[in-house]
Amino acid sequence: MRALVCDGPEQALLREVRAPEPGPGEVLVRVTSALTCATDFKLLKRGHPKIPFPLTLGHEFAGVVERTGEGAGFQPGERVTSSVSAPCGGCEACRVGRENLCVTAFERPLFGAFADFLLVPERIVKNGLRRIPPGLSDEAAALLDPLASVVHGLGRAGTAADGGDVLIVGTGPIAAMLFFLLRGKEGTDASARRIVVAGRREARLEFFLERGAEVSRIEASPRATGSLVIDTTGDAGVISALPDLAADGGTVLLFAGLPAGARVSLDAHALHYREVSIVGSFHYTPRDADEALALLSRGAVPAADIVSARCPLDDWRAAFDLAQGGAAMKVSLVP
Ligand SMILES: [Zn+2]
Ligand SMILES: [Zn+2]
Repeated sequence: MRALVCDGPEQALLREVRAPEPGPGEVLVRVTSALTCATDFKLLKRGHPKIPFPLTLGHEFAGVVERTGEGAGFQPGERVTSSVSAPCGGCEACRVGRENLCVTAFERPLFGAFADFLLVPERIVKNGLRRIPPGLSDEAAALLDPLASVVHGLGRAGTAADGGDVLIVGTGPIAAMLFFLLRGKEGTDASARRIVVAGRREARLEFFLERGAEVSRIEASPRATGSLVIDTTGDAGVISALPDLAADGGTVLLFAGLPAGARVSLDAHALHYREVSIVGSFHYTPRDADEALALLSRGAVPAADIVSARCPLDDWRAAFDLAQGGAAMKVSLVP
């Protein structure tokens, strides 16, 4: 089978490798759609402190069960998608329902979807692999992982997500999914809610403008104030300006990750006198993933707007260029 193996930074090659055989509890999935994601771009560029090379890239996918090991609980032919990791269920974080903070969940994240087949280990088969509901396309179902993170982030924002103006900083697929969910929140008057998206790339700002958002260039220090201000850039310089853009009593949600050791300087005066809250959000729980799949099934996120191009697996480099250049939000690589 073919697999996009990465041996080190900037050393990825589509290679012929031996297809894995599922052991007890494992499932071998024939990939039908695997989506580009900034995490894979980062891995290719500089590696990851917790994910060693060599490694097959790709982690947002859908496919069809090809073969299963004993007791896996899935049948050949079933369409599936998956979380990138699975909680252990036994640690302190898991016991109190904060499975996204499970201490061992990220020991072996599920990468390897840019390939003809992907072997899903037992733990993820049990707590991460999900059947795709009838009527939901493989391509849309492959959005499970990033959309579950977005669902979790909005949960962390609490009541600030339920109404009031929103400023989203950054213009990538995460920003788009946040926009769609916030715009569609049940019980909110969409016309009364202002959603401003701030970014740098013209093509991406255009994307949001066409879909009814107000847009602003980051450099122009957006004049909007939001009850909810969301950072999707992970840029410390951008983040330090955000409390000033939050309304009194508002919430700043740090959605994007920053490198270890990153420090951000914040206006403590605003945090105290204007009661601006800073909230972080990381990954998602199994409940968030269930909700994401339900939202996709209901069409709450227009998947075709996010996954707007497809390429054969052989043309992975063109797919990466399309997504990184901003011409597509995500590209579906089709083996
Ligand atoms: Zn991803
Ligand atoms: Zn755990």
